[in-house]
Amino acid sequence: MDIVSFPLGPLETNCYLAMSGASAVAVDVGGDPAPVLARLKAGGLTLEAICLTHLHCDHLYGVAALARETGCRVLAGAEDARLMETELGRGGLMGLPLVDAFAWEPVAPGETTLAGMPCRVLATPGHSPGSRSFYFPEAGVVFVGDLLFYRSIGRTDFAGGDYDVLLGAVASEIFSLPDKTLVYPGHGPATTVGDEKRHNPFFSEFAR
Ligand SMILES: [Zn+2]
Repeated sequence: MDIVSFPLGPLETNCYLAMSGASAVAVDVGGDPAPVLARLKAGGLTLEAICLTHLHCDHLYGVAALARETGCRVLAGAEDARLMETELGRGGLMGLPLVDAFAWEPVAPGETTLAGMPCRVLATPGHSPGSRSFYFPEAGVVFVGDLLFYRSIGRTDFAGGDYDVLLGAVASEIFSLPDKTLVYPGHGPATTVGDEKRHNPFFSEFAR
């Protein structure tokens, strides 16, 4: 699997393109998807799905355009549906623009196949109730959205956020993956499971 990241939109949210053979999936699309479309075209790639880690507006600004241009489906956690009725999901808060409406389908936790690659969808709430992480075991990669960052964690003070739930989700769903698993967050640099176990100040009980 090849992975390219594109920081998009007003909050420079990481949009990832995960590519395998002639297929690709996108993870979060926080702004104008022009560079993503250019990469798809250059590689002759078919975009099979847009996987949304959660329904906060800064991860969504380019979803409608990318889905329209590629005809791909859009997947997100069902428990986040209510966020699209609030400024947190559809935009407008803190002077942020509005999100163009898009259709999406709920993705349940469990094993699936995306772009020909085995993928385990993980329920990782805490930053939002329906947060999902997308783990690709063969590539050893997990996309976590705003659950976990390099040496930090996502905010839990938004509606539907919960600090204890977030810490529990990281411990049970992410820190149970192999230490060498690459962790791709919604903002900032990538890290690994083992690195965060040792150095993330929110999880000092995992440090050895
Ligand atoms: Zn968020």
